[in-house]
Amino acid sequence: MKLEEFEIGVRPVQCGCCDYFSLAERGRCLVCPVCFWEDDYDCVSNERICVETRSDINRDLTLREARENFKVFGAWHSEFSEVVISKKERDTLRYEPRYI
Ligand SMILES: [Zn+2]
Repeated sequence: MKLEEFEIGVRPVQCGCCDYFSLAERGRCLVCPVCFWEDDYDCVSNERICVETRSDINRDLTLREARENFKVFGAWHSEFSEVVISKKERDTLRYEPRYI
């Protein structure tokens, strides 16, 4: 998919899975263009990130599992590795890796 197909906004927040600033805001279950994780407020709020909480909207994976998958497949699940945005588009987004 193309980055323009996603809602990023002017001051995006950081994805809990891939660590790119790729989501317009929290609490709306927005899909991340970089890794395809659906932003789950149970896992990531503005105050905290819970890597062991199972996300029912992301097939009951935890963020820890999803983050590992992203490193391997370039998406939170192998199924989405071909539909995420290109590396070129990805590189236009702010990125701050977290080691959690
Ligand atoms: Zn992401």
